[in-house]
Amino acid sequence: MEDITAEYDLQELTAPVELKFRPRVTLAARTDLGRVRENNEDKFDFYMPEDERSLATRGLMFLLCDGMGGHAAGQIASEMACKKFIAEYLHYPSSDPEAAARTAVALANRFVLEVARTIPSRRGMGTTLSALLLIQDRAMVVQVGDSRIYRLRGEALERLTEDHTWVEEVVKAGIMVREDAEIHQNRNMLMRAIGVDEADSSRPDIFWYDLQPGDVFLLCSDGLTNHASDEQIGEYLKSDPSDAAWKLVDAALAGGGSDNCTVLIVRVDRLESLG
Ligand code: CA
Repeated sequence: MEDITAEYDLQELTAPVELKFRPRVTLAARTDLGRVRENNEDKFDFYMPEDERSLATRGLMFLLCDGMGGHAAGQIASEMACKKFIAEYLHYPSSDPEAAARTAVALANRFVLEVARTIPSRRGMGTTLSALLLIQDRAMVVQVGDSRIYRLRGEALERLTEDHTWVEEVVKAGIMVREDAEIHQNRNMLMRAIGVDEADSSRPDIFWYDLQPGDVFLLCSDGLTNHASDEQIGEYLKSDPSDAAWKLVDAALAGGGSDNCTVLIVRVDRLESLG
């Protein structure tokens, strides 16, 4: 097992980071069991710190995890991963948010994995993890698995995450065309997840974006994207966040509701300049 403390940058421990921008947001969320499942294995969480140091170096935190595994294990995996990520990300001793996020993912992975190994009924559980961190005037996206983060800016909807699925990987590698991949028996296989093994499969993608007032972010589980097209998502996100959350989940239910469906919407109302 790697030594996670080796990732600490000691110089960063004391370097002060000035808070220059403070994002002000409107938040809405909705989660639904769907029409088929008997328990909800999706979990969302958020934390919006008030103190300047946390705001400057960690930002506002929004998180969505979609668990898997029988006997309610998926529900436990997604909840554990959410909690562990936020706690470790927040308390990581360097001001570097990217190092904090990578370590928080590694520790969440280890935590879920250890529980899965220790308790027989929890074996095989795991979860996706998608996180949006609004830090000053930038957005950091952290991605493991096939939940998604979108951004609506003006009229343009952009998907900020890649799905870590078997389908995406074989299509990207040119091994199979999408039409064939999407009907293959491996189509639901996740190539990366939290809590499945110690190695590379929990490695997060981390992407950075600029932040503009008016940006609307959506974190969602595949229970939404299996039933709603990008066009529908873009259209609904133009409503106020609370309205949009209801419309999106209603669309997933109307489309069949084959899975738990969760949406977390974050609208950037303004970027308060403190300079
Ligand atoms: Ca799901």
